[in-house]
Parts: sequence; structure tokens; C-alpha cells
Amino acid sequence: MAILVVGSVAFDSIETPSGKAERCLGGAATYFSLSASYFTDVRVIAVVGEDFTAQEEDVLKRRGIDTRGLEHVAGKSFFWRGSYMKNLNEAQTHETQLNVFESFSPKIPVEYADSEFLFLANIDPVLQETVRKQMPKVRMVCGDTMNYWITGHRENLERVLKGLDGLLINDGEAKLLAADNNLVRAAEKILRMGPKSLIVKLGEYGATAFFSDRLFPGESKHLSLPFRAPALPLSEVVDPTGAGDSFAGGFFGYLASQKEVTLAVFKRAMFYGGVMGSFAVERFGTERLQKLTREEIEQRFALFRELSHLD
Ligand code: AMP
Repeated sequence: MAILVVGSVAFDSIETPSGKAERCLGGAATYFSLSASYFTDVRVIAVVGEDFTAQEEDVLKRRGIDTRGLEHVAGKSFFWRGSYMKNLNEAQTHETQLNVFESFSPKIPVEYADSEFLFLANIDPVLQETVRKQMPKVRMVCGDTMNYWITGHRENLERVLKGLDGLLINDGEAKLLAADNNLVRAAEKILRMGPKSLIVKLGEYGATAFFSDRLFPGESKHLSLPFRAPALPLSEVVDPTGAGDSFAGGFFGYLASQKEVTLAVFKRAMFYGGVMGSFAVERFGTERLQKLTREEIEQRFALFRELSHLD
């Protein structure tokens, strides 16, 4: 099954305790696509400027990602500058330049129309909604967002949340969105805003999924408890940028690769999300995600199982 993803394709300048990287290829849709490409076909919708060359596009193409929906226009690509000097689990944003995204009007190529899975990666909720409306028949829609959109574009975001099967955000964003510092209460409030499930990414501590009883109606007795997937304890996190998007790519990519989306498949997908997030942080930018093998992914998946196995 193919996934259609809309989100930022960007240049990032990043500083972490391990060093600095200037203008490396980034963006939520980039990390998501690379990660999901190990599981299923991926088609991307985004806009880039003249600074985005064939060399950057080849990073996506080499992973078989369909870039026919990547529009090239005059101007500069999305640019983000962030650092993690105080806390590796939370980026500090120093600069966000939307640039060509400011006047972007997403158009879906006819070749993308049969995509069954839709991922609304982090970008202006108005653009997420525009793409959602053009894909009324998709089987499953998940999405992401961040502080920038939660605080400044709330009403638009709330409309997007109503139509989601799953919302993937980190714990700080969940607490901000719900205006509640207790994660369980925040999750209850967010599920009432519309998403059928909420996956809270907890950085180096893994991820927790909360369910409404609308996603798997036959399983309601198993849905009252959240589900927790681990993260891999690493001795060095080189660059946490894109960990959340890589988690989302592994999670959604695995879901889309399965015949049916059941609760058991959803739980396994959370583990694959953690696996892909753990690879992403081992190098600056997208470097580690560009050259993985399915064998490495499966070996790490086995490690994740081992980590959380009790008997
Ligand atoms: P994360 O997975 O949360 O670490 O996502 C990091 C990526 O998000 C970076 O590659 C940035 O280019 C991108 N990003 C940062 N701010 C925004 C924003 N306001 N909207 C969309 N994408 C963003």
C-alpha cells in the first residue's frame, strides 16, 4: 500500500553537544519518507526553492520515494535552525523561515490518487487540511504537528485533528495542546478533540499510545490501558532532529505494509517507530536513514522485543 505524505522539506542548521551541522537536508516529510521507504511505497507532496538541487532530490529518489509531487518554485526552501544544548529531548527553535511554503498550494498528481494511507507531517495545518480534502477515500490518516502551529494556528489545527485516525506528537506538545501538565488527562482531552488514537513520543523514553474506542471497535476491552513501546538506550545521541518524524515513518510505514490494521499490528508498528527513531539519532541529519538495510532494521526490532520482554 502506498503512503502519501505532505510536510516540510527543508534545510536545517543544527547544534547539539556532539557538534554542528549547517544547512543539512531535513524537514518532517523528508525524515518521514526516508524512514517509511524501508516498509512501503512513499509519495511526497511539498515545495522547495532554487537552493534545493538534484543532489538533495536524489537522496529521496535513491530510496525509491516518488517525488513527482515535489514542486520546485522560485525562492528559498523552508529553513529551520535549532539546538539541543540543554535537553536532548527538546529542540530549541532559533529560527523558522517558511519561505516557499508561505504561498504553497498543494496539488496532488493523478499518479498519487490511489494512495490508501495519508500522513499529514508537520506543516501549516491549512496545508494539511487542503491535502486531506483532496484525498477523501484514504483508508487511514495520521498526522503530526508542533508548538509553532499549536500556539499560533490553533483553530486551523483543531479542524485537522477532527479527521485523524492517529495523532503523533511529543509529550510537551500534548501537554500544550490540552493545557494540562498530566499526560493521562491531556491524552483524554486530546482524544475528545477528534483523533481516534494519540501516540505520545517521549524521546529517549519511548512512546505511549492512548486509544479512544473508535479505532478498533471490536477491541474496546483492551483499549482502556495505554500501550507503551520502549526506546533503545544509546550511549550517544548525536542529533535528535527528525527522531519524531522517523518514528512516524516507521510506525505508519509498517502499518501500511500489513494486510489489515489490527490492534496487534498497531502495537508492533510502535516498536518499528522506535527502531527507526533510534537509527535517526545516531548521525547528524538524515545520514543514517539513507543507507539502512531491512536486515539491520529487523535485528534492532529483535533487540526492542528483548528489551521489553518479561518472562
Ligand atoms: P522532529 O522529528 O520533531 O525532530 O522534526 C524535525 C524537523 O522538523 C526538522 O527537520 C525541521 O526542518 C522541521 N520543522 C521545524 N519546525 C517546523 C515547522 N514549524 N513546521 C514544519 N516543519 C518544521
